[in-house]
Amino acid sequence: MALTGIQIFKLLPKTNCKECGVPTCLAFAMNLASGKAELDSCPYVSDEARAQLSEASAPPIRPFTIGKGVRKAGTGGETVQYRHEKTFYSPTLLAAQVGSDIAAADLETKLKTWNAFQFERVGFNLRPELVAVKDAGGDAAAFAAVAKQIAETSEFNVILITEDAAVMKAGVEACGFKRPLMYAATEANADDFGAIALENDLPLAIKADSVDGLTALSEKLTGMGIKDLVLDPGSRDPKQSNQDMIGIRRAALKDSNRAVGFPTIAFPCEMASNIDVETMLAAMYIAKYGSIVVLSDFTGENVFPLLLERLNIFTDPQRPMTVTEGIYPINNPDENSRVLITTNFALTYFIVSGEIEASKVPTWLLIKDSEGLSVLTAWAAGKFAGDDVGMFVKKSGITDKIKHQEIVIPGYAAAIVGDVEEELPGWTITVGPREAAHIPGFLKA
Ligand code: SF4
Repeated sequence: MALTGIQIFKLLPKTNCKECGVPTCLAFAMNLASGKAELDSCPYVSDEARAQLSEASAPPIRPFTIGKGVRKAGTGGETVQYRHEKTFYSPTLLAAQVGSDIAAADLETKLKTWNAFQFERVGFNLRPELVAVKDAGGDAAAFAAVAKQIAETSEFNVILITEDAAVMKAGVEACGFKRPLMYAATEANADDFGAIALENDLPLAIKADSVDGLTALSEKLTGMGIKDLVLDPGSRDPKQSNQDMIGIRRAALKDSNRAVGFPTIAFPCEMASNIDVETMLAAMYIAKYGSIVVLSDFTGENVFPLLLERLNIFTDPQRPMTVTEGIYPINNPDENSRVLITTNFALTYFIVSGEIEASKVPTWLLIKDSEGLSVLTAWAAGKFAGDDVGMFVKKSGITDKIKHQEIVIPGYAAAIVGDVEEELPGWTITVGPREAAHIPGFLKA
């Protein structure tokens, strides 16, 4: 059980030295109890007190890693119910499911197709992480063979889906080196599955038919010494499932219920009859509060929008997304091509670069660091001032790539023309369109 603020206070030095950043030990204790402070901020906690306080200072939803290699991923570690309160930390992991009766050649084709779904956005490589193999008929050898093929021939990490301990054991032996997620321990098999998870140090999903059932199972397995659990409340009706996900998050964060302080797993593939509805359900779980989402397939049409949604949900809402400052060549520009400049707000970059690309006019796009602000906001905040822009143009290296001296500034920053001219004597400063949609016409004119 988590400790209350008063219980924590009793274990602190009570010197009110303020070194932790708050005026009193009591205030620090209250912050620690609500997850707003870290125990390490107080240098004077005794070892004995530290041991007792470690539970209170642990994240309310346990963080851990699933998988190995380039697609290993963290899950859990969330500290807030609503994204605007702070941020969500661990992006929802996406899985596609195959049956253990799939032919090796078919699996090879699927893995090759799924592996190609990788997208570069704002410096991130967006891609799904997991493939789930579901026991079809209790054939342990077939189950192990499919798990082994996924683990050994692809970057994907594995979810092993069976409730048969013998089949699970075979699967773990085949792909245990990739730290697969075992799914799922139930009331009936908890002892056997708990033993396999403990012996191989693997994360274990638990499934019950209610949140109360999950709590009992979670307490039993944590009592056995298993630390990394994933929760499936068993609901397959979208409305009930959504309520369960919210209830689990709320119980973990607001009620400090450690028994449900773990990541969750959801199965749109068992809740819809077609991939479109699956995708919509997956989108719901990315927003609230699915840590792992299992689909029946990855297609370009479902995986790309889900990855983009995930990217947006799991970014810090208090820090705008940015692109790197620098020179971006678009449509193979040369020394005579025009030079446009704008800010490093990711959305601004994507819209402007997209319009330039669509125009097919070879162009150099200069991106200036504006701390992630859009043009008008950056100008108003002094992050896109004329002298700064001029200095950036000089040091950017663009002068080595062109043999003219003309630059186009955004229409919304027309007020900086004079200052840019002062900083870049001899240059022609042209004010471009205010709206990105007018860029193709402007470039072609
Ligand atoms: Fe109290 Fe420790 Fe904070 Fe000092 S640093 S005020 S002793 S909690």
